[in-house]
Amino acid sequence: MSRLPSGNDIHLPWHLRLPAPLERDFADFFRDSVARVAPWAALNVAVLLSLALALEFFLSPEVAASTWRPRLLCLMLAVATALVARHGEWRRWLHGMSMALAMAVALTGDWMAVTVNHPLAFSLFLQTPLAILLMSVLLRVPFYWAVTGSLAMIGVLAACLYRGGGTSEELSLVLLLLSLSSASMSLFGQYIYERLLRQHFLSENVLFQHRDELHSANRVLESQATVDGLTGCLNRRGMESRLDELLHGFGRGQERVTLLLFDIDFFKQYNDTYGHLAGDECLKAIASIPRALTQGDKDFVARYGGEEFMVVLANTSLKDALVVAERMRTRIEQLGLPHSGSRVSQVVTISVGVACAGQQAADANTLIKCADEALYQAKGAGRNQVAYMDDQGRVLAL
Ligand code: GH3
Ligand code: MG
Ligand code: MG
Repeated sequence: MSRLPSGNDIHLPWHLRLPAPLERDFADFFRDSVARVAPWAALNVAVLLSLALALEFFLSPEVAASTWRPRLLCLMLAVATALVARHGEWRRWLHGMSMALAMAVALTGDWMAVTVNHPLAFSLFLQTPLAILLMSVLLRVPFYWAVTGSLAMIGVLAACLYRGGGTSEELSLVLLLLSLSSASMSLFGQYIYERLLRQHFLSENVLFQHRDELHSANRVLESQATVDGLTGCLNRRGMESRLDELLHGFGRGQERVTLLLFDIDFFKQYNDTYGHLAGDECLKAIASIPRALTQGDKDFVARYGGEEFMVVLANTSLKDALVVAERMRTRIEQLGLPHSGSRVSQVVTISVGVACAGQQAADANTLIKCADEALYQAKGAGRNQVAYMDDQGRVLAL
């Protein structure tokens, strides 16, 4: 199975880009981490814009008459950005909104500087260096967006100064230099911030990957600790915990638990005749029968000892369990595995003991003991048969 590249494999390049699937995850991570500060940043901008508008009213109502509309537009964008940052579902628009807000601040500044007729109107050009700082330092749009945005804002500022800002050449140069230096400082800061954030993201990614690997290793270990390697049935440990789990609900009216214990007849002789390896193959073939016969999700088959198996049927009455036991015995006989060393048949057979959890056997150990007594009876009565313990504690042949 191919796995995603992780922080272990990746050296963060100077251009910051990560391989595609990680870059996508990082975009979400970045947005979520910025979203915590974005509402405050946007509200900060809203306060500044309101103060500017108040100042313009104070300076001259004519100035305010032409600035309130662009100011209101920026104010609305600031409030919308704060709202987008706070709503999980809208958050995918956050960088776009932040960028739009910063651009609106810069462009409306340029537009007002050109159109407003006031000796101090040129100072509205200062919104460009401010918007550049705002975009990178406060709203933290991604580095490459910030580069593009800064260049666009400086370009528009240069065009406005050139086309008719009414500002002297010296002042134009100062405004351009101010914008360039605010761009270089804030972009440098944004680059470092994004680099650190990406490194942090990569280390988290490594941690998550290790955690997932640990979980799957644990799952493998857990199944190795509870499953029998030869037959694929539960081993004794797995059986004990599953049976305890089932019996835990018993007595509170939740489950009726029936236990079938079976043992292969004359298996020592089978090994002696056909060899141990053939004995193992025989065990595998036998185990497949009860596994095919148990259908409930709480039923299970376990290898209880060397050639002794246990079948646990949840929510099954003794009567129904006896039908399953007899079917299992016949199916195994019908497998027709030759067994010349057996004294009861020409083929491999089993003896089965059945017990049901009831007043006499409410805990695992007593239930197993009852089934074992019934199995002993089946062996004593000639093997290749089923015996059971009834609810009076009597052992009977089927
Ligand atoms: P009975 O009919 O009374 O059950 O006679 P038996 O010969 O089957 O006696 P018992 O149940 O005590 O047999 C246990 C034998 O099972 C001993 C051992 O050789 C064999 N056995 C136990 N575990 C394994 C195993 O993993 N592989 C093989 N091939 N044989 C095993
Ligand atoms: Mg045995
Ligand atoms: Mg045996």
